[in-house]
Amino acid sequence: MKDRNPDANYVGRFAPSPTGPLHIGSLVAAMASYLDAKVHCGRWLVRIEDVDGDRNVAGADEHILASLQRCGMAWDGDVTWQSRRTDLYDAALRQLGDRVYPCGCSRREIADAQLALSGRQAQALIYPGTCRHGLAPGKSARALRLKVPQSPPCVIAFDDRWAGHVSQDLTDEVGDFVVKRADGFWAYQLAVVVDDGAQGITDIVRGADLLDSTPRQLYLQQVLDLPQPSYLHVPVVVNDVGEKLSKQTGAQAFDTGAAPEVLLTQALLPAARFLGMELTAASIDDFWRQAVPAWKNVLMDTCAGMR
Ligand code: GLU
Repeated sequence: MKDRNPDANYVGRFAPSPTGPLHIGSLVAAMASYLDAKVHCGRWLVRIEDVDGDRNVAGADEHILASLQRCGMAWDGDVTWQSRRTDLYDAALRQLGDRVYPCGCSRREIADAQLALSGRQAQALIYPGTCRHGLAPGKSARALRLKVPQSPPCVIAFDDRWAGHVSQDLTDEVGDFVVKRADGFWAYQLAVVVDDGAQGITDIVRGADLLDSTPRQLYLQQVLDLPQPSYLHVPVVVNDVGEKLSKQTGAQAFDTGAAPEVLLTQALLPAARFLGMELTAASIDDFWRQAVPAWKNVLMDTCAGMR
């Protein structure tokens, strides 16, 4: 594992989508990003990623913030909400200029085109570039897509501090991707890159389910002329059938009214164990005192395992 750039003043963040209350899976991502900021004497910001109006659950943001507080995770500065920052996304879209084009394809049409081209239904939809040179007659604009260079292919590689070297051919494996969705909502990829840039985030620590999105974000950073943060993707908690834990897949939400001992034994200690830290804390304060040096050891062990 590569360590981060030691010269940069660390600014990390936890960026939950308010699609439900905090649970053990999201606590693992919050804990890893919080501990990494503490180990590097950095700042830790919290940003509520509520751009997807369809998936937001009323009150989930407040529940998540209350859970973080109850667990003793204090953030620096003010919490930000993406839904209040749409001017920034508009400005980024203007900056992208004619790299962005309207697309009239439905998911079904993209899947059918993929099937026709490769003879098989792939798991991820790869956009074949149908509307790149203009909408077909009779089609109206749905989403906005960002052009990915075709030749030579756009291969994006980076060294993840946990997962090691990662490389993805955006041209072949992703295609031109959506920056504004057909339903009018900003795409996660654009909003996250704009906010990480605007907030001066130097270090992103989050779940490995987003590893696959990172090359698209690195490409957007390049075209928007934003600095590249360092990345660390921790494993995600899964249920018995291997699905990422979420409200939909049966995750138990936090009871924000639970006694501190309950939060300690049923949330903090299990989340720490998942991250490879066997702690024996008797109180929440004690937990964080032990967890900061323990995270340093996790980083060292991960590093040794990769050599
Ligand atoms: N909002 C995303 C989520 O809750 C995380 C985004 C990120 O950390 O980049 O899954």
